[in-house]
Amino acid sequence: MLNIDAMPKAELHLHLEGAPRWSTLRSAHYKHYSVELPETPPWHASGFRFADFSAFQRLFKQYIHPWLQTPNGYAELIHDVVDGLLAQNIRYAEVVCVPSLLAMHGASPDYFWAVLAAEVERARLQNCIIRIFVGLIRTHSVEAAIQVVKQTRTRSLVAGYDLLGNEIGYPADAFRPAFELAREAGKRLKIHAGEMMGPESIEYAVETLGIEQIGHGTSAIQNADVVALLRERQVTVEMCPTSNERLRNVGSYQAHPILALDDAGVHVTVNSDDPTFFGVNLNGELTRLVTERQATALDLKRWTQNALRRAILDESTRHQLIAELEAWCPN
Ligand SMILES: [Zn+2]
Repeated sequence: MLNIDAMPKAELHLHLEGAPRWSTLRSAHYKHYSVELPETPPWHASGFRFADFSAFQRLFKQYIHPWLQTPNGYAELIHDVVDGLLAQNIRYAEVVCVPSLLAMHGASPDYFWAVLAAEVERARLQNCIIRIFVGLIRTHSVEAAIQVVKQTRTRSLVAGYDLLGNEIGYPADAFRPAFELAREAGKRLKIHAGEMMGPESIEYAVETLGIEQIGHGTSAIQNADVVALLRERQVTVEMCPTSNERLRNVGSYQAHPILALDDAGVHVTVNSDDPTFFGVNLNGELTRLVTERQATALDLKRWTQNALRRAILDESTRHQLIAELEAWCPN
């Protein structure tokens, strides 16, 4: 039996506000609001699928927003996300956050960034490197995205930006001015693409916008040319199988294209997206791939190597992490 707990892991696609453990969220709601939430919510049940994307988004309003309105809510949330990464032996994580969510509830940006910086440092001291990405929301205006980049691009804690949210009706090309500002500041760019839309969304992000790191990319499998493009450009694809299953972006978990894209030579990685609401963290995702899709230790190692090769690390740290992964699975 594979010892997934002991495996040194990397996760490139994790939303801060969708990552606290349910047990912690539940305690926080009880502490702040005397509300008793179920020990396991119905949407964590195996086989559960959301009616649509907005049904999933409503959970943020119902469970995360009230927590953020409490004086230490954000600090409690971030602290728990870091504890969750450490508990899973995740050695490198790219975490995307939406600072405007906190601003909406009246907190100052300085408070947010100070709490986040302290937690990133706490993780570093325990051998977990966290890189922070700021989310640009497709359904907000392009002007709002430009504003967010202008307000945050001088912060050293910001490694880059990730375009996210509802893909349908909000094409990435409109956000070009925001991407240009980010690039000028030396920041990395990622785009959630091919999650809700077809392969043309991925092709546009890679071919026209020059993006090398795609969130989801699930629909690439529908077009052999797009698969070839991802392989040739060595694009890193941040795949989130349980998220795609629960949000109906794939026909079923068994039909998820991670194995097919991997076979085609695409640099896939495994990620949990919003574990608070999908009920499966990175350890759980890897375990599911082993038990339900017959992934092997070598597969898990290759997918983690793909993540570490893209990771924002100095070369000696990268080599050290890859060597630790080799030691976990020596052949
Ligand atoms: Zn995502």
